[in-house]
Parts: sequence; structure tokens; C-alpha cells
Amino acid sequence: MPDYPIVNAHHHIGHPDDDQDSVFQWSESVAQIIDTMDENRVDASMLMPLGGENDRSVTEVHDSIYEASEAYPGRIFGITAPNAHLGREFVHEEITRCVEELDFKYAKLHTLAWGVDPTSDVAYDFYDACVENDIPVMIHTGPHGMPFSVPGMLIPVAEDYPELDIVMAHMGGAYTLTQEAIILAKRYENLYLDTTLALNMYVRRAMEEVGADRLLMAAEHSSNIPVALTKIDCIGASEDQKRQILGGNAIDLYDLDVAVQDWEEKEISAAD
Ligand SMILES: [Zn+2]
Repeated sequence: MPDYPIVNAHHHIGHPDDDQDSVFQWSESVAQIIDTMDENRVDASMLMPLGGENDRSVTEVHDSIYEASEAYPGRIFGITAPNAHLGREFVHEEITRCVEELDFKYAKLHTLAWGVDPTSDVAYDFYDACVENDIPVMIHTGPHGMPFSVPGMLIPVAEDYPELDIVMAHMGGAYTLTQEAIILAKRYENLYLDTTLALNMYVRRAMEEVGADRLLMAAEHSSNIPVALTKIDCIGASEDQKRQILGGNAIDLYDLDVAVQDWEEKEISAAD
């Protein structure tokens, strides 16, 4: 069993009053997430709104994520995701509130769910708010959401914001778009690769060509946690590379104080 912390660095949760997200038609509870984390020995998860929180009600989802982070300190961390089209002032204030008051760790720009061109003025306002709050940004990439989600759209962003750490969600998603994400990550040191949805052979290629220090394991939904963990077991990673991809990189990049679980102890007391 690994002796390093495991962090699921990208996970969605919808509005607590809604059965389903209106964009992606799924949702789940904090209890379900914690139970699955325990079953799979995942120490921490980072939660963000799902696609349907497109209006200012996203503040309520942020508040509910904050409550979860208070209920499970060091195991649940928050991520802010206000729709970039809601106006410069609101986006800036909400990102700042989430970082300063709720201790959230990064912001997600959802090019697919919100129809955002990552090189547009509203996207640049979003990045400005991230820089001012000294947090990384995650940007959705992949075939789902094209043309806004093509990895190459991030070339000007990586060049215009050398001080901003940028995580490509899904590392391009599939096939040549994943190759494109790998090519970009080799060229720009401020680009990181999120492994959800990417095929194993491309994750392996990224590890070999970009380096294990820029790959981040994540599940997005609790039903995918065992799959996300197994994927990293299938790419020929050394124990040290696994330590980085499965949690070490997220801890460093997002400055996480993870409550590392004593699984032996926990499972014995649960069985009693
Ligand atoms: Zn996602």
C-alpha cells in the first residue's frame, strides 16, 4: 500500500437542492464522495460546481462546498467556477471571496459548459482574477466543447500569463488533441495535464515526454475514482512517479494541507 497521500484533484458537485445538473444530467452527494474515497483509500478530493450553475446561484454551490470542507477538513478542498460571462465585477468578486473567505485552491474555466473562448476578453478577465488571487486556473480542453476547447487555443494564454499555472483539464481529451496538449506542455512550463478522460497510452507518453511532475490524477465523479486510480497503475510509472501523479503534484501546485488518513486504523475501527 502506498505511503503517500492520494489526492483526487478535479471533482464536480452540483447544487445541493437539485437532483441533476441541468447541463450534464448527473450529480452526487458529499456523503457518496467521502464513502467512495474511503473505499478506495483516497485522502482528499477537490470539489467544484458542475456545468449547470451558470448564473449567480453558483455562490450557493460554492458555499455548500465550503461547508463540506469544514465538515471534512484536509479531505475536501474547494474550487471556484463562476461563469466567465457573468461580468468582470461579479467574477472578480466571487473568485476573490472564494479564495480569501472560503480558502478555495484554484479556479475552473469551463469552455464547454459556458461557451467561452479561452482567448476572449471575458476569459482574460477570469485569468486576471486568478493572478490577483495567486491561484492556478484549470481550463476545460477536449473534443467535447470544440472549437473553444482545442488545446492550441491556450498558446496565447500560456505566453501572456507566464506567472499563471494553467491545468489543461482532460489533457486534450483524446487522440491528436492529447498529442497537441503534450506538445504544448513540453513547450510551456506553466502548463499542467489533468488525466481524466485521457487514454492510458497518452498519459504514459506525457509522463515520458513532459514528466511526472506535471500530471495530476482526478476522477470528476465518485463512480470514476477506482478507474482513475487504476489508470495510473497501467502506465508503467515508478513508485516515485506515482507519488507525484496521485497526490504530490496537487499538494505542491495547490498548496494543500491534506489530512493523511491512517487506513489500517480506520478500517479496523470501522469493522468493530
Ligand atoms: Zn470536469
